[in-house]
Amino acid sequence: MCARVYNFSAGPAVLPVKVLEQAQAAVLELPGAGASILEISHRSKPFAAVHEEAKTLLRELLEIPDGYSILFLQGGSSLQFSMLPMNLLGEKQTADYILTGTWGKKAFEEAQRLGSAHVAWNGKADNYSHLPEAKDIEYSARAAYVHYTDNETIQGVEFNTVPDAGSIPLVCDTSSNFLSRPIEVAKYGIVYACAQKNAGIAGVTAVIIRDELLERVPKNLPPMLDYKLQAENDSLYNTPPVFGIYVLMLICNWLKNDIGGLNAMARLNQDKAGLLYEVLDAHSDFYRGHARKDSRSMMNVTWRMPSEELEAEFLKAAKERNLIDLKGHRSVGGIRASIYNAMPKSGVEALRDLMLEFHKQHAKQL
Ligand SMILES: *Cc1c(COP(=O)(O)O)cnc(C)c1O
Repeated sequence: MCARVYNFSAGPAVLPVKVLEQAQAAVLELPGAGASILEISHRSKPFAAVHEEAKTLLRELLEIPDGYSILFLQGGSSLQFSMLPMNLLGEKQTADYILTGTWGKKAFEEAQRLGSAHVAWNGKADNYSHLPEAKDIEYSARAAYVHYTDNETIQGVEFNTVPDAGSIPLVCDTSSNFLSRPIEVAKYGIVYACAQKNAGIAGVTAVIIRDELLERVPKNLPPMLDYKLQAENDSLYNTPPVFGIYVLMLICNWLKNDIGGLNAMARLNQDKAGLLYEVLDAHSDFYRGHARKDSRSMMNVTWRMPSEELEAEFLKAAKERNLIDLKGHRSVGGIRASIYNAMPKSGVEALRDLMLEFHKQHAKQL
């Protein structure tokens, strides 16, 4: 028996126990392969089957229409920040960025380094606590694409609609809410997500790209950074992150067969997040939520408390109950509860109970 804590880490993050057990078994022997998933060739039949299954399950879960390729790349979402402008931003074009938090800002800065980039909306003045209104987003005249961050992991701000950029290809960083709910892939040029938040382990990034966009890729990019070449080689230009793709496949399998698909997953996530937001709303003088109500994330719930001393005490009390990694990112402070797909409801309930008790204990003294 092992003593597993409730892990609220923002990433790498909690995984379903069932997936960990399957991965554990496959480290010894991938079923049917007679060898470990860590030992087999990426050109072998057993791996080809894993790779195909990962793509098939993603297509099913996300209802990815024809005309899109699924790539499994390395370098994390941070490398996507660079690959996007390298592949899609032409010399006389501008790339538009909607900035709702730290990750969007990072993506923008990378585009700015590599070409002409425009801030279509910036939430900085309000400390990235809310989403834009459609009328306030200013797209540039000939934007190559519009980039936004579906869920800002650090601030805990999540889109609940898709920005309408007209005919400009929409690019979405969905790293921290990938597979947490259905999305309408047809509305996007590119959807990308590193796996280690909600879809597996560090080392693999899923990139879903509309094939039309591959025609824009300039010649002579370094091959590893070339979407077209990666698509032509089905992510096998070099050795792909074999184990990462395997775990992603297991996660998809769990989502499909144990959870019942992304609509069911979304309901569970709403339900879990609701438990914490209920406390923030009931005791808003004590637990001050970072995100405005209409912009709240279902994945990362962020709040401040009356003092840093109380926050430290709260974290200590949490740890004593085996609730770990709740410290907010240094740029926001306070508490951040990352409650991804694999966080069981019982973990969120345990945190909710602590919040209620802690409030009862400390609110009166203030
Ligand atoms: C974690 C994260 C990233 C960065 O991912 P890496 O794989 O570490 O490069 C980018 N965007 C969002 C929204 C994230 O949560």
